[in-house]
Order: sequence, then C-alpha cells, then structure tokens
Amino acid sequence: MLSYHLRLFLFLSVLPRLNTTIPSDTITSPLVAHLETFWTSLFENRNEALVTLAMLFISHEIIYFGRCVPYLIADKIPSLQKYKIQQKTIQNTSQNQWKVFRYVLMSHFFFELPMIVGFHPVAVYFGMAISAVPFPSLSKMIPQIILFFVFEDFFHYWAHRALHYGPLYKHIHKIHHEWSAPFGLAAEYAHPIEVVILGTGTIGGPLIWCYFTHDLHLATTMIWMTCRLFQAVEAHSGYDFPWSTHNWLPFWSGSEHHDYHHMAFTNNFSTSFRWWDHIFGTNKKYIAYKERRAREMKEQKAKKVN
Ligand SMILES: [Zn+2]
Ligand SMILES: [Zn+2]
Repeated sequence: MLSYHLRLFLFLSVLPRLNTTIPSDTITSPLVAHLETFWTSLFENRNEALVTLAMLFISHEIIYFGRCVPYLIADKIPSLQKYKIQQKTIQNTSQNQWKVFRYVLMSHFFFELPMIVGFHPVAVYFGMAISAVPFPSLSKMIPQIILFFVFEDFFHYWAHRALHYGPLYKHIHKIHHEWSAPFGLAAEYAHPIEVVILGTGTIGGPLIWCYFTHDLHLATTMIWMTCRLFQAVEAHSGYDFPWSTHNWLPFWSGSEHHDYHHMAFTNNFSTSFRWWDHIFGTNKKYIAYKERRAREMKEQKAKKVN
C-alpha cells in the first residue's frame, strides 16, 4: 500500500497536465454541439429566469435522489454489507429512509426552491452567462470547478465548526446529527438555517468568481453543483467501498471521514478535502480511533490464526 504522502505526490504531479492533455475541443465537439443546441432550444422564446429556475430545481431533484439510488440498492445486497462503515449501529432502515425522504423533499420545496428563485437575478447581477453559447471549454471549466471545491470546503469547514458551538448546535445543527450512522438520503436532512448557511458555501464561490472575472457560465455552475451533490451523498452513504473516491484520491474526505463525524459528534468538519482538519488539528480523535481500530483488527486476525 502506498503511503498517503506518496499517493498525494503522484496525484499532484499529474494534475498540472490535465489542462493540456484533455482535447476538449476535438473529441467532445459533436457532443458539445448537441448539448449547445439543446441548451439554446430550452431558452428560445422563453423567460430566461423561469427556464433557469426550472432547470436548477428539476436537475437538483433528479441528481440528489438519483445519486441515492445505488446506496438504496446496496442496502438490499447482503454481500455488500461488509463495506458498511458502522456495523453495529443500523439506522438505514426503510422506516428511517422514508422519514428522511419526506423531510428532504419538503425542505427542497419550501426552503431550497425560494433560494433557487433568487439565483437568476443574483447570477445576472454578478455577470454570469446564462443562455449564451458556446459553452466554455473543459480547460476553462475544470480549474473553475476545482476552485469552487476548494472555496466551499474552506467555507464549510469554519461554518460547520461554528454550528458545533453550544446554542447553534442545540437549535440548528442537532437535526442533521439525528443520524449517528448516516445514509445517502440524510445528506440534506438539516435545519432550514443550516441549508441556507451551507448552501452559501456552494453558490458563494461561483458568485465571487463571477463578480471579479465576469467569466463564468451557468453550465459550469451546474456541473459544479452536480459534483457537490455527488460528494454530499457519498459522504453520508455509510459505505466505504474499495472504489469509493477517497480510496483513489488520497486527500478526498469521502464517507469514511464524514461518517466518523456523525458517529463521534466531533472532528472532521470539512466536506471534500482532509487538509483543513489536518492543519487545524481537528482530526486527532479520528486518527486515534483509526489506529485503535487497526490494532484491534490485527489482534483479532492473530487470534484467528492461533
Ligand atoms: Zn456536524
Ligand atoms: Zn453530515
């Protein structure tokens, strides 16, 4: 097994070449042309704000609940249960999933939808390209999305730490922590104020970028939001599969990192990356727990051999 630092070095040594090696304007051209035609047809002779609202809300529903489906299927496959991070605490029962589904759906309609209504005027004010084509090239989109990941992760780290402060935890964040052994659907199971605070981290990066550069397309923002939803559902999935993101992206937080936060109610405050918890020392209990677990596993194996 490669060490963490060696895997990190290997990944970072590949990263700078991504921009130059992706032939975005050659290989993907026919697909992009089709998407651009489709995009134009969506906006043609229609109110831009209404089309944006419908696209953002419908895509959010499809992506969020669609991303949960593989985990709901995994719950029914006995051979995959060995990948469940918490073996003793079982909260992904049908009853709990149904309760969370109803709560999240209600939250989407009553709290997220009004935020999405406000998105178009704010995005236009900040200079975002909405219906315009052509789309930006991948070599432009990818660095912007990486930047939004970094911004969101930093924002979320501090906002999440603040939400663990006594009164804020008691009145706001406690709802999200109802699940000490989370499951995918629980990613957006949170108090409306938390939805607004943490949603700011998701949309704040694109808006700030847009304000200073006037160089951002709605399509890029939607790809970023899709990535963010994938990240959030995976982090709450409760499964650590061999193919889970953090097993091939060394500094990715993933389910194994965030699951500990739900289990222990402390440490691991970040969303996407592990570095802020490492730098600010909010992963010490998590590391001690992992070392203790590794020792216990080793002892159990030794007992079996004898
Ligand atoms: Zn928390
Ligand atoms: Zn969580």
